[in-house]
Amino acid sequence: MHSDLIGKIAKARQYANEPERLIIEQLSARFHGTNNEHRIALDHDRWSCDCTTFRLHATCAHVMAFQRIFAASLDAAARADVPLTMQSDLVSMIEKSRHYVHERQRIQLDGVHVRFRGSNNEHMITLDGDHWACGCTSFRLHHACAHTMALQRLWAAMLPAAALQPTSDAGELEMASLLH
Ligand SMILES: [Zn+2]
Ligand SMILES: [Zn+2]
Repeated sequence: MHSDLIGKIAKARQYANEPERLIIEQLSARFHGTNNEHRIALDHDRWSCDCTTFRLHATCAHVMAFQRIFAASLDAAARADVPLTMQSDLVSMIEKSRHYVHERQRIQLDGVHVRFRGSNNEHMITLDGDHWACGCTSFRLHHACAHTMALQRLWAAMLPAAALQPTSDAGELEMASLLH
């Protein structure tokens, strides 16, 4: 079992560099803005944010930042820009979202549904609060798999601390494998 997990860890490292294997179907997150905290969600192709700008324009700097950060893992409809009539609004939103892309600590993911195209099969991975689940056999047996470990690496800056904890003895094994 240990050699099996070490193999999974190597795979997780590889997967973490291949965000195009993922399709995010649902996502919910908190965004610590400069003045307020906002709630942002993606439900299939539909974004929402509770800020005023979003209510007025159906997009905002927060949503644009998410579209940039997760671009490789979104389908075309979720990546698409909302057409804006006021050029000046658009310019300021784009400007802000560019900064946010480099300030990922503002984001805390607390719910995600992801389709993961593995080497052989497709798996559904969920994060609910700080609780991971994956539909693959390895997760059922070990409470850890290459898929959840890859997401922990990929999104480390945006996950609650508890969601970064190893879900089994995988963390210790990872340490061991680094020492060899
Ligand atoms: Zn917003
Ligand atoms: Zn899995």
